[in-house]
Amino acid sequence: MTSENLPVVVIAGRPNVGKSTLFNRLVGRRQAIVSDMPGVTRDRKEGEALLRGRRVRLIDTAGLEEAAPDTLYGRMRASSESAVAMADLVLFCIDARSGITPADAHFASWLRRQNRPVLLIANKAEGQAGTNAALEAYSLGLGTPLALSAEHGEGIADLMGEIAERLPPAEKSRRREAPKAEGEEDERPAGPLRLAIIGRPNAGKSTLLNCLLGEERMITGPEAGLTRDSITVELHDEHGPIQLVDTAGMRKRARVEQHLEKMSVSASIEALKMAEVVVLVIDATLGVHEQDLQIGRLIEREGRACVIALNKWDAVEDRNATKKAILDRLEISLAQVRGIPVVTFSALTGAGVHRLLPAVREVYEIWNSRVSTGELNRWFEDALERHQPPLVDGRRLKLRYMTQVKARPPTFLLFGTRAEQLPDSYKRYLVNGLRETFHMPGVPVRLQLRGTK
Ligand code: GDP
Ligand code: GDP
Repeated sequence: MTSENLPVVVIAGRPNVGKSTLFNRLVGRRQAIVSDMPGVTRDRKEGEALLRGRRVRLIDTAGLEEAAPDTLYGRMRASSESAVAMADLVLFCIDARSGITPADAHFASWLRRQNRPVLLIANKAEGQAGTNAALEAYSLGLGTPLALSAEHGEGIADLMGEIAERLPPAEKSRRREAPKAEGEEDERPAGPLRLAIIGRPNAGKSTLLNCLLGEERMITGPEAGLTRDSITVELHDEHGPIQLVDTAGMRKRARVEQHLEKMSVSASIEALKMAEVVVLVIDATLGVHEQDLQIGRLIEREGRACVIALNKWDAVEDRNATKKAILDRLEISLAQVRGIPVVTFSALTGAGVHRLLPAVREVYEIWNSRVSTGELNRWFEDALERHQPPLVDGRRLKLRYMTQVKARPPTFLLFGTRAEQLPDSYKRYLVNGLRETFHMPGVPVRLQLRGTK
């Protein structure tokens, strides 16, 4: 394989976040010159790295900012544009010690529009430094940040694994090596993300499906061996294959047999079982219907990740008012899935549809996410202090310790004396806190209680 054919990994970010240091770390030789002074002129550095047995071409954009005499943001962007355009993966670095700066945020928002796979890196996080910035980095909308220290070599092995996982597949099957707790079955399976598009009749599911497939033009067709009413099609985004359960196909058959409204729910249940992420399509011109909420609750009950799609946005007159009304309704009626991502588009014209799959990928990551026991219990102690556990039968419950037992969806186990008697209101307080602190909007969060002596 010539270096031209190797997957390209580009390191980007504002000056001084540690791009060159990271480059050196990954390439394993001191090919780039590292400097304490921001923006010191350096050539664009390229090198080859071997990550989990795969050779990649690594490009360091550090120093390129000198080329364009503009604002810092303009320089970063100009310097990175060509490199990012050819990237199979962009490593976007922030400095976890200094936190998110406006330049980081600007650059991130530009990067999101480039439609390249991005891995967000919170560098300079040696020891436990920069945990806050790493959490804050979620707000950049580039997925789960990976905290590491390029200089001290901490987290580099994980990084290599994460990079290898995001590269275009060399062979078919890739498996994620995640730390496992006992008794759990939450390993992210190899193979495509399984997605279902569900919603009431006429919400626009078929139109959306056609739009997605038309755009991707990568249909591999109805899969052999499946029944007529559960057709799956495969499409691809930059992160890999997505298997779509086509409920519209299911609906057609059932239409003759059953009442439509009833049917759409049973088709939904069918699709839900097969899916990891569910797109709930709502006809925005009609607002939120009770049946939409029913489906939403079903998604939560089944523990699936969800994205809400407000379709027919082209036909909505007052978009601000409509969006607000719908969000308010969802917030009140689907509180258990607080913060669900909402995407507006027109499946008919295609406007805005490109935002759907990134939202799906993001919520899928969250659904798969894990919180370390250390972090969890630091938060937990804080939460207990802020709001004491209630008295039950005149005695205070002693809550001791929390751990995440599985992902998909994130599930936490809480230990404490008579913990199983914890009132629902306090459980909600904890779940909401978990969701907020560890950035798990839009996915069901489970809390299990275990009493101890
Ligand atoms: P670039 O401009 O983004 O290429 O940043 P450099 O790689 O030149 O690093 C800028 C400064 O940050 C240098 O002083 C590095 O020694 C320092 N640095 C890089 N990585 C780390 C790290 O993991 N931890 C700490 N504390 N400093 C780092
Ligand atoms: P399904 O029953 O959920 O599969 O809905 P269809 O995809 O069959 O769409 C139902 C109707 O809504 C059709 O007449 C579509 O043309 C129309 N429709 C779907 N998407 C849009 C949209 O984005 N804007 C508008 N104005 N009409 C749409």
